Amino acid sequence: MNCGAELTGPACESCGMSIAAAELALRRKLLNRTAIFLLGAIAFMFATGRFPPLEIDGILIFIGVLFFLTLGLGMLVERRALRHKEVEALKRVYYGLIPVPWLLGALLIANGVFDHAPRVDWHARVISRFTMFGPLPSRRLVVESWREGHRFERVAVNRDDYDRFHPGDFVVVRVGEGLVGIPWVAGVDRE
Ligand SMILES: [Zn+2]
Repeated sequence: MNCGAELTGPACESCGMSIAAAELALRRKLLNRTAIFLLGAIAFMFATGRFPPLEIDGILIFIGVLFFLTLGLGMLVERRALRHKEVEALKRVYYGLIPVPWLLGALLIANGVFDHAPRVDWHARVISRFTMFGPLPSRRLVVESWREGHRFERVAVNRDDYDRFHPGDFVVVRVGEGLVGIPWVAGVDRE
């Protein structure tokens, strides 16, 4: 449970820990990693607020699913450890998922910060707008899409822009193409 070696006697031959000590060490490690994972999720949400991808809602759904799968896996590892079952493989998968929100957040920030290509202005009419409350409230302007195969774009905006624009307004959405090819919203202005 602690070092990953097969337990053959009352104490581990590799790290010297008894089952009880190893269980405690494992639970402490799980808790610490989970804290790092949760901080990463906050960092990721910060990144989506700072450099919102055009496809923000699809990305958030993907991340949300990943988030709950990861936390569920962490709980499963802890439960199995309590019942003294094999945890090594699941533990490795769980530890492997811990840095994912940090990496994705860093990717989004790099995508925006190092995007030096000229922004592209798209003219669009606001159709509606909505706010989603949650730990981090998010606001969207729904505008007519300029992309083929898309009817609407749900453009992430800050509170000022959300209050400034209303259905029927004509706006210019400034879009960056993104360093790694994730289009992101650089700003919204009145036409
Ligand atoms: Zn050991």
